[in-house]
Amino acid sequence: MPPRVQRNSSYLNGMSITGTSTRVTDVSPTSGMCPICIKNCPVLCEIGLSAIRGREVIYPEPEQFGYSTAGALKDYRLDWSDFNILSRLTEVHGIEEDPDKAIFPNVDVSTKVGGIPMKIPIIIGAYGSTEVARLNWDSLAVGASLCGIILIIGENVCGMDPDSKIVNGKVEYSREMERRVKAFREFWDGKYGDIAVQTNVEDQRLGVDVYAISKLDVRIIERKWGQGAKAIGGEVRIRDLDKAIMLKKRGYIVIPDPELLEVQEAFDAGYFRSFERHSRVGIPKLKDFVEDVEWLRDQGAEKVGIKTGAYRPVDVAFTMRTASEAKVDYVVFDGAGGGTGMSPVPMMNEMSTPTVYLEAQVLKCCQILKKKGRYVPDIVMAGGFINETQIFKAIAMSNFGDGPYVKAILMGRAPLTAVFKAEYFVELAEKNALPRNFVSKYGDDPEKFFIAVPKLKSVYGKRFKQIPWGAIGLYDYLYERVRFGLQQLMAGARKWRLDLLDRTDLAALSEWASKVTGIPTIDEVDSEVMESILID
Ligand code: SF4
Repeated sequence: MPPRVQRNSSYLNGMSITGTSTRVTDVSPTSGMCPICIKNCPVLCEIGLSAIRGREVIYPEPEQFGYSTAGALKDYRLDWSDFNILSRLTEVHGIEEDPDKAIFPNVDVSTKVGGIPMKIPIIIGAYGSTEVARLNWDSLAVGASLCGIILIIGENVCGMDPDSKIVNGKVEYSREMERRVKAFREFWDGKYGDIAVQTNVEDQRLGVDVYAISKLDVRIIERKWGQGAKAIGGEVRIRDLDKAIMLKKRGYIVIPDPELLEVQEAFDAGYFRSFERHSRVGIPKLKDFVEDVEWLRDQGAEKVGIKTGAYRPVDVAFTMRTASEAKVDYVVFDGAGGGTGMSPVPMMNEMSTPTVYLEAQVLKCCQILKKKGRYVPDIVMAGGFINETQIFKAIAMSNFGDGPYVKAILMGRAPLTAVFKAEYFVELAEKNALPRNFVSKYGDDPEKFFIAVPKLKSVYGKRFKQIPWGAIGLYDYLYERVRFGLQQLMAGARKWRLDLLDRTDLAALSEWASKVTGIPTIDEVDSEVMESILID
């Protein structure tokens, strides 16, 4: 077993994500309960709140839905911090051996996923019908296009849109889908990145793929098989009874049943404030999927991807076999430990394969396929990525000598956080309510405190005013910080191109990390050649 100090189950009975806590902190490591549980306890722990609100407590605080994202809090005993990046002194790769040229701003961090060029190896999404995506869409879309990356519109957007025109069960128009695609294209340079549309079972029934391709000229369709945060379909909260009824009529699973009179009365009386809308999960079969991808290409899809969750190893192998036979352009594997707009908290914490373990399984599949001469699609890893160190490690780990299998990583929560933060601080500035220490460090004018403003003004001129502040926050975060940081790390490893990162750039910090991934421990790295360097 791994040597790191392990956390235990003490978090089970009090979690900030559900708004619960315990009366005392020295709780049982097994149950998470207070060692003495008293009748007159005013604190709402998981058990206590569940006794009052039942099913609601499975989820992140319902009141925060639409204004938050949520992720797992369990320690999976292995994450990217279990590896260190090895720096180099004597070798330079991908640029001339000239100290004037081998400087970090010259590092090329561009990549291609499924043949689509991106300025940085980051995809964001998939942001579907969840309210937090709708409310922050313009910033996400414009920010993604400024960064030159792929943005994925998630599932159920047309099905949830009250303004969708559905004829004979097929969508012919969706105001919300059209808005989302157009928002990305407003600042898109037509070259780097693109907009993709993801489809689940309900979307396929509604013909969202054909609508997106034929009416909105979307080039990338992504079939959704799952996500890291949960192994069931997408879920959202509906705070409007009429909308809940509309969605049930459109075929969604809505809980509780909004068409029952007693449920309507309970909702009107305020016993509960939101319905849950659930969607279905697909049950993919190899032959059907190969035909589906051919059909999608016949419909005009230029690129086809799969987004899957962190299912057990045999399902990882099935996914890779199917993706290979169907010759999809890319597969996104989403590991446990990431997040979502709304997922059951116990499922986020306790189910599915965490990201590093998952990448190790995926890479094993890639190598087997490659060895047999089979097609290997581009791989995108997701699940808890927020910064450049993780990106470096995920890509480097995937290169066994013929170039990285992992061409990019995907972020979901972190870009939303950047958008939230940017918009909130602008709101505070408008109300003259910025924290004093913030003002003393960065000023009180958004035009001054966002560092990329002068650059964006010079690039976009008068159009600068149309860029939402949230998009500038996203650009500052992904392009000005993560890209910059990645360039520095790569220059430290003396690699001036992303495809040059490989497994020799990493060392495992524990035997467990080494066992799972095959990356040597730091004491093993180069141990065989040290003597020959000293004495030859
Ligand atoms: S109800 Fe019992 S277990 Fe829960 S917080 Fe109170 S004392 Fe602790």
